[in-house]
Amino acid sequence: MQKPIIGVTPDFNPGTRKDMGGKEPTYFLRARYLQAIQETGGVPIVLPLVKGQGHHRQLLKRIDGLLVTGSGWDLAPELYGERQQFTFQRMSEERAQLELGLSRLAFSLKVPTLGICGGMQSMNVALGGTLIQDIPSQVHTRLQHSPKKSATKMAHAIRIEPKSSLCRIAKKQTIQVNSSHHQSVKAVPDIFQVTATTSDGVIEAFEAESHPFWVGVQWHPEFLYRKYPIQKRLFSAFIRAAKQYGSQKGN
Ligand code: MN
Repeated sequence: MQKPIIGVTPDFNPGTRKDMGGKEPTYFLRARYLQAIQETGGVPIVLPLVKGQGHHRQLLKRIDGLLVTGSGWDLAPELYGERQQFTFQRMSEERAQLELGLSRLAFSLKVPTLGICGGMQSMNVALGGTLIQDIPSQVHTRLQHSPKKSATKMAHAIRIEPKSSLCRIAKKQTIQVNSSHHQSVKAVPDIFQVTATTSDGVIEAFEAESHPFWVGVQWHPEFLYRKYPIQKRLFSAFIRAAKQYGSQKGN
């Protein structure tokens, strides 16, 4: 089989953000996400922000794996049944609808899916989970989940559940990760298993046993994979699952 095609969700400025494109509607995506896919054996394609289940289904049919990215603004809390309690910027509706719609479908169609940072949060909300809106305000912690240092640097340890596929990938129960988030997963739906946490109880990873590859991580492996083999193996495992899925669907 050819290399698996990985659909990657972009960030979007609908014309209201000064930091990317100003009034001109602009797609926005860190190159590291695409490079990590390319360097671990996949072919990344940036997904267009289309609306509606029919269009989402058409997109999913053409890919072998889904990467739900982070590095953007936060989901509207109304999407998980809460009112916004703290000051933060809301993700464009276009991006939110694509990520939530594709995540729901990818879960039911068993399309291998990796969520990074905000992408993990979208996967969670898509299937009925909730989020902590602001860790510094809502969690008693001494850890810094959003330190003022480069995301290429490790920020804190995480503890990994021994029987998880994440543990099989990491081959360790405690690893260091980077951290660049002020929100996190609060409650996961019953169909997910929490597979990594920090000492303050913040959820750093989940997966779903019933799915061939459904992994969300709260850290940013795309900043680490060139230097740290564990982080590279996470992408490799995702690409392997996508390849398997692609060969089954007959590409
Ligand atoms: Mn963290």
